[in-house]
Amino acid sequence: MPILTQALQKTAPDQPFRVAEIERRDPRPNDVVIAIKAAGICHSDIHTIRDEWGSAPFPLTVGHEIAGVVEAVGDAVTRHRVGDRVGVGCLVDSCGECEQCLADEEQDCLNGSVGTYASVDRDGTITQGGYSQHVVVDERFVLGIPEGIELDVAAPLLCAGITLYSPIDRWGVGPGQRVAVVGLGGLGHMGVQLAAAKGAEVTVLSRSRAKEALAAELGATRTIATGEEGWDKALRGTFDLILNTVSADLPLDDYLRLLKPHGAMVNVGLPPGPQTLRLGSLIGGGKVLAGSNIGGIRQTQEMLDFCAEHGIGAVIERIGVDDVDAAYDRVVDGDVRFRFVIDTATFPAASR
Ligand code: NAP
Ligand code: ZN
Repeated sequence: MPILTQALQKTAPDQPFRVAEIERRDPRPNDVVIAIKAAGICHSDIHTIRDEWGSAPFPLTVGHEIAGVVEAVGDAVTRHRVGDRVGVGCLVDSCGECEQCLADEEQDCLNGSVGTYASVDRDGTITQGGYSQHVVVDERFVLGIPEGIELDVAAPLLCAGITLYSPIDRWGVGPGQRVAVVGLGGLGHMGVQLAAAKGAEVTVLSRSRAKEALAAELGATRTIATGEEGWDKALRGTFDLILNTVSADLPLDDYLRLLKPHGAMVNVGLPPGPQTLRLGSLIGGGKVLAGSNIGGIRQTQEMLDFCAEHGIGAVIERIGVDDVDAAYDRVVDGDVRFRFVIDTATFPAASR
């Protein structure tokens, strides 16, 4: 029997969220049924459900920063037990057989990974995300949340955390390195904490100084306000790595100038439109312009364990299901410290 559960749904990009009852599939032998306790609001949810990345399939529930407790497991499940604290990020399935899946890089599955929402699932249905009371997910895509991290603080790690942990790991961030984090939102505030925990010297490049004190608490050595005249002069040629988390267009040439020779600028922010760039900005100094897409399941678990070990969590503002429309506007205004997390206990009715 499919499971009926409450979810926040939109029927069109310009409609407000409404509470609806949606169906989760009848659990298969390898499935875990999760009672969701907390769901983070990622800017990708906003890009998607406002049709900024193309037409989304409506009606739609978004949310891919999910934390909760295992309520039931299928007969073949071995990795999780009823009562376990677990999380789900941006992925709920992949082929498991291609070169990328075998290398624990399911996000780049050559046969197409299945996203947590707005994606075509194996059975042809459209996946529905985590702004909901329950979700049913194959055990391979369910992460264990270590003791010591509260569920609502853990939820944003499932997307924002892994999205920054992965390039920080790939570029070997460590002591002696200078790292810039551009944009201090949900992703950026994880980047600052993770890069600082790896021992790097971290500079925040934010539009204003409004978040300066909080940036310092997260581990940044300094904050530079990019809205101020001449902000970049003293920074040219100084960074080993720039992590760009900005959800809007940036003048890439100006930022590439801030890299040391052979330095890298890794883009995780995904603004809707095309970007322009002079190739000369890369050629002089042999610089690297790269992108990074979340991370695989093995690395996501590694990130969660790293966060628990280093006392790192998301800095959150808890909200109820009625607050999500207003929260979206605040995220777009850069007015969130630093992630909104929906408390699913505020749904009007228990569905099971
Ligand atoms: P967010 O919380 O809104 O943070 C984005 C930050 O960018 C803002 O806090 C702001 O920082 C800065 N910003 C916003 N508008 C700007 C503008 N016009 N000019 C300059 N800076 C601006 O968003 P998020 O959830 O961290 O997501 C950021 C981006 O990453 C989104 O595009 C999202 O879709 C993408 N994303 C990518 C991946 C991936 O795997 N690659 C995963 C998750 C999300 P300041 O106020 O400090 O300037
Ligand atoms: Zn996300």
